[in-house]
Amino acid sequence: MFWLNVDHPTNIWKLHKADCVYSKPNDSTRKGVNTTKEEGGWFKFRTHLEAHEFYKKIKPRAVWQPCKICKPED
Ligand SMILES: [Zn+2]
Repeated sequence: MFWLNVDHPTNIWKLHKADCVYSKPNDSTRKGVNTTKEEGGWFKFRTHLEAHEFYKKIKPRAVWQPCKICKPED
């Protein structure tokens, strides 16, 4: 599984493997899980390709950034 961190303040969409130390999906007042709030949200995917399709469909001008620690696209 993969988690995509959609971050509105930085305009960066960062993809992680579910077991990455930086993969910390948690619902908060500013960030949602499987939904976006003021500062964005976390979205879960079965494959990194599905996550990238979602990105291209929703916000292709945001910055796509696979995590350098867990390397989700390798
Ligand atoms: Zn990661």
